[in-house]
Amino acid sequence: MSVIRELQADILICGAGIAGIATAYELAVVHGLRDVVVVDPRPPLSLTSDKSSECYRTWWPAGPDGAMIGLMRRSYERLSTWAAASDNRFAMNQRGYLYLTHDPAQVARWQQDATESTQYGAGSLRIHTARGDAYRPAPPQGIDPSLDGADLLWGDALHRHFSYLDRALAAGLHVRQAGWLSAQQLGMWLWEQARASGVRLLRGQLVAIEQRGGAVRAAQIALEGGAVPQRIATPRLVIAAGPMAAELAATAGLSLPIYNELHAKVAISDAQGIVPRHAPLLISDEAVHLPWSDEERALLREEPALRGLLERFPAGAHLRPDGGASSQTVLMLWPYHAERVDPPRFPPDFSAVEPEIILRGLATLLPTLLRYTERLPKPVIDGGYYSRTAENRPLIGPLSVDGLYIVGALSGYGIMAAPAAAELFALQLQGLPLPSYAAAFAPQRYAEPSYAARMAAWGDGQL
Ligand SMILES: Cc1cc2nc3c(=O)[nH]c(=O)nc-3n(C[C@H](O)[C@H](O)[C@H](O)COP(=O)(O)OP(=O)(O)OC[C@H]3O[C@@H](n4cnc5c(N)ncnc54)[C@H](O)[C@@H]3O)c2cc1C
Repeated sequence: MSVIRELQADILICGAGIAGIATAYELAVVHGLRDVVVVDPRPPLSLTSDKSSECYRTWWPAGPDGAMIGLMRRSYERLSTWAAASDNRFAMNQRGYLYLTHDPAQVARWQQDATESTQYGAGSLRIHTARGDAYRPAPPQGIDPSLDGADLLWGDALHRHFSYLDRALAAGLHVRQAGWLSAQQLGMWLWEQARASGVRLLRGQLVAIEQRGGAVRAAQIALEGGAVPQRIATPRLVIAAGPMAAELAATAGLSLPIYNELHAKVAISDAQGIVPRHAPLLISDEAVHLPWSDEERALLREEPALRGLLERFPAGAHLRPDGGASSQTVLMLWPYHAERVDPPRFPPDFSAVEPEIILRGLATLLPTLLRYTERLPKPVIDGGYYSRTAENRPLIGPLSVDGLYIVGALSGYGIMAAPAAAELFALQLQGLPLPSYAAAFAPQRYAEPSYAARMAAWGDGQL
């Protein structure tokens, strides 16, 4: 007699992050599938999906096929429809991303990227050279689907509309189909509907995937406090395990091309009101030297362990206000040293110097932030892993074991990609017509001999 108790599921989803929850919603609510079970030892959305900066954008590098633009535009369509249907329960705004540079030469690169992206539906580029009168500011709350593409603001046009920025900035690229939302509220809104449509949650950790004849047959789940694993017979298992996806696939004998990169998010209280509460996401789009006083520079030069702080740092420091009108919180991020950590460690370790480095990097956009370096407001650091592929495209679809699938490798864009990723997966599962970007995200793409060589030439577009 078996000591293992047995359950059944038609579809078992491993992971209750945004990927697993959006997938459960799609299968049960949109497609009416029954007998869907989600398994996770943690509370829903509590590992990576509540650590994000919760931003979205449809403006992505085109790559060879515009696939990321297609995916994100579909997500935006769905998110804006859901926002309208839910009385904007997840507080989606469309303030945009404002990329900034001191270097006029950067503008030619933005224009080149825009020429490629607009071919794939990213919207047009409007150029404002003087006062920028034709530029439409974004509404601080809610969305405006008529705003798309991007506005390139040169010199005075930039400073007229964004007077709080460093006067030496040469130009800004305001990407319009972009902004942020509450990922927790979005996830809970999807989850409540999935539960109401019959999706069950099992609290436990998937520890083994059983196969017979090259096909999934069952999964074993270690239940909290349970000495004996729970066996669930299932013909279809979806890996939505975020940073643990590769480990889990390995238990089925598969090697996935995924690695984990540690990314920190720093929150400080902007008690001096340096970042306007209505600001868009502000991004430094140029390599920078951190601003130090002459005295600080001399001290750093003398200390070998700290000399690196005088080197050039990469582009990508970004910040946005967080919370309602009465909040003072500002979120700051800068993956200036994205470190690979495999297997991922929990809780992750963050360097204590990170907040000051990020703050100084952002002071190249808002010099008054340097006031906070005298007495740094107590920062809250959290974050997690970008679980990603080398070319920074997700893995969505069937794996080489029959009945085994993945919705994963969602890197630093999983919140914004989840609506379209889950939809794509549900279409694949049921053999329905697929959108044009499906093949670009299918795990089988690596079987094509020239794929690795071709992808090495693409920019990954990651923040
Ligand atoms: C600092 C930071 C900033 C970010 N900013 C943004 C942003 O602005 N916009 C954006 O779109 N994205 C952003 N992201 C990325 C986004 O947060 C992730 O892509 C997304 O949360 C991944 O969701 P997931 O469901 O794949 O993984 P997770 O949220 O990690 O969920 C995976 C779940 O699987 C479960 N699990 C793992 N192994 C097992 C097992 N064996 N059995 C059962 N359950 C298991 C885990 O417990 C977990 O609950 C950011 C990420 C970070 C770290």
